[in-house]
Amino acid sequence: MRLLAAVVSLVCFLSAATAPDVQRRLLVIAIDGLDARYILDADRLHLKIPTLRRLAKNGASAGVIGVLPDDSWATGTTIVTGVAPSAHGVLGSSSPNQNSSVPTLWQAATAEHRKTALLFWPATVSAQADYNCPQYWEGQLSADLPFDLISSKCTPGMVQRISSAYPVFSKSQWNDSTALTGLRYLLEYEEPDLTLVHITDLGQEQHETGALSLYSREVLENQDEMIGQAISHLPAHTQIAVVSDHGFETEDYVVRPRVLIGSKTIQVRGGLIGARSTSDANALRKLVGARKSGIAKEVALEEVRRAIPDASGWTAAFSTLPNYVASESLTGKGVGPGSHKGVHAFWPNRPNFRSTFILSGDRVKSIRLPEISMLRIAPTLADILGVKLPLASAASLWPQIKK
Ligand SMILES: [Zn+2]
Repeated sequence: MRLLAAVVSLVCFLSAATAPDVQRRLLVIAIDGLDARYILDADRLHLKIPTLRRLAKNGASAGVIGVLPDDSWATGTTIVTGVAPSAHGVLGSSSPNQNSSVPTLWQAATAEHRKTALLFWPATVSAQADYNCPQYWEGQLSADLPFDLISSKCTPGMVQRISSAYPVFSKSQWNDSTALTGLRYLLEYEEPDLTLVHITDLGQEQHETGALSLYSREVLENQDEMIGQAISHLPAHTQIAVVSDHGFETEDYVVRPRVLIGSKTIQVRGGLIGARSTSDANALRKLVGARKSGIAKEVALEEVRRAIPDASGWTAAFSTLPNYVASESLTGKGVGPGSHKGVHAFWPNRPNFRSTFILSGDRVKSIRLPEISMLRIAPTLADILGVKLPLASAASLWPQIKK
């Protein structure tokens, strides 16, 4: 009997050690264009976003210094691999059939036999996951994608199962409400270990009406309400990350340095103005801080070269004032009115241009972090799941933020 008891307790011990760890579930919500100011300045902007406010208040949050290019496909892949776009190879949303060339979070989770779900996540058309409805288009990528086009690429049977639980899922166009209805179903009925969902309406609105515009705030409030509904069925012990691809700025003015100093060799990269000769550099230095030049300050070249590899021929670099966007154009005024639309694709260190990181759940401390690099997100998410991303070399935030 004693031997039997010993065997039984050994079996119990082994099965406890190998049982799926209910403590290790993760939901990642990527909100396209969620500038960090939406969270940091929520009071000043009078934002009615109770769900995001609660997640940020109860969890860890930080402004994020991004990577170039800051296209949602490039950064969406960085967030799940921990390497820069130049290393994972997804440099933008030029074609829907791109894949990361390095291991992703869902691949690492699948390798550990964890249940994975992907909703509209970038670069996932051929991804292997238990549930997948990828962002997919034909021809040019546009704001409104036909629902049937996306559903034709979803995991077989998935659309029918979601629609039978939530008939509002199927509609003519795929939008945030579609993605978040799908999320609600997955959390409630399928309980994935890892769920990644990407929503895009906020980014699209800002491209039309400007960064943090009144219309954009309304879109975010709507997203917040739908996220709140979706996570009301959150499986126990799920940690929630909210991330975004880039900050946003409104192009109120255009600065044309080639016109300002009459030189055709000046370059503009990531919103920075680069001089390639001493005479151009000196001419631009004279404009720093000058009334209506829009040129804010000279930026140290070593700082620039870390962020913009093709700035190697520059002898000096200059940043512009907030809401002044530099252009290589040779025609028009030196400084003239802009489009008043929302823009991004700036170098990561541009002031007031930060994306968002929030991590909340029963294993996460309430802590406001200093700014972090986007490269630190993936290793942190991997730690939560207990999986490995061997190429993600930046330090995980997990030791700092876990309870
Ligand atoms: Zn975006």
